[in-house]
Amino acid sequence: MFRKLTLRLKFYISFLRKGRSYADFFTSNTYKIYLNHSKIIHFRDGCPVFSLSTPALFSNAAANFMARNFYKNITGRTNHNLMSLAITEKCNASCEHCSFHTKDLNEKKNPLKKQEYFKIIKDAQEAGVTVINIVGGEPLLNPDIFEIISSVDKNLSTAILFTNGYYLSQNAKKLKNSGLDGVYVSIDSAKAKKHDKFRKIDNLFEKAMEGIESAKKTGLTVGISSCVTPKSFKNGELHGIVELAKKKGVHEVLVFGANPSGKYAERQDLADDHVFIDELIEFSNKYNKSYDYPGILIYGYTSSHRSIGCSGGVNYFYINPFGEVCPCDFNHAVFGNVRETPLYEILEKMRLIFKHTKYGGCRLKDKKIINDKYISKDKFNKINI
Ligand code: SF4
Repeated sequence: MFRKLTLRLKFYISFLRKGRSYADFFTSNTYKIYLNHSKIIHFRDGCPVFSLSTPALFSNAAANFMARNFYKNITGRTNHNLMSLAITEKCNASCEHCSFHTKDLNEKKNPLKKQEYFKIIKDAQEAGVTVINIVGGEPLLNPDIFEIISSVDKNLSTAILFTNGYYLSQNAKKLKNSGLDGVYVSIDSAKAKKHDKFRKIDNLFEKAMEGIESAKKTGLTVGISSCVTPKSFKNGELHGIVELAKKKGVHEVLVFGANPSGKYAERQDLADDHVFIDELIEFSNKYNKSYDYPGILIYGYTSSHRSIGCSGGVNYFYINPFGEVCPCDFNHAVFGNVRETPLYEILEKMRLIFKHTKYGGCRLKDKKIINDKYISKDKFNKINI
């Protein structure tokens, strides 16, 4: 009896002495594995933010993420926790690398209506989605965007917008009031003229900078999303963007290695880019150690074996503005349409095909499986299952 009491007492003392640092290490390590850093980049509504791509720590959406993962372990089933929802096919830019620009874009298709977006969001949240990315086209061209964002139950999910920034400045406050948590603004060069030329729209860079400033003032978490190629990286574009982000007080830079999809569908040179990913990770490490710089999130890191792997179709899916459900923004293999089939049934189909995330990087960049029937790079292609 005495021994039992002594051990119990020792346990409580150990808990008091070590428990806090243990919890702290566990939290840091969780973020480190996913993001390759555990730097707090912003405080939003009193909660620490490590990345726009994850719900803020201590938010209800983060608690929901944990709870969903708890059940994922019990059931042994994967959980679709990230949805990219395209709310318009329209765009005011014409970017060189646009992944949405597919061969079938001119086909007459019927865009989703506001009420349909409300239902998709509700269905996705019921199915366990905790991160909702609002994408396009240019999402701010949909006048219903504020109501769509308002329909997200913030106790279940965080809502993030991807925009080219042209219309951001005048809409930032309304977006925040609608319940938006953060915004990624696309910037591909710190040189205004080069950026505008790449996206084929005058004054876009200037407008995007104004948008970033306005968004920051409202309290949104603000990121720059940047598409790099091995060539642009060698030319120092990313270095320029990171310095620009620091100057503007941006919280995060999300770096995508250009994908062989959409307008770049034929770019075989973008496949099997492991050396390039290694270079990007090394590049980000030095900035992520410093609190003077924003967090740098290398997408190629999270989709590699070091983190969660390529998760398209497994815990990530994309819905285009016509209701077609695909594994991710870049893989346009259509597994069903929410107008014809309940979302959970479509997700189940994906779950049975993809089973688990793919280590070794992006499916679209893997030359061994690039012609797999569950991949479509240049058009929205209905898959027969
Ligand atoms: S195929 Fe995988 S890694 Fe590539 S973009 Fe889609 S989800 Fe990301």
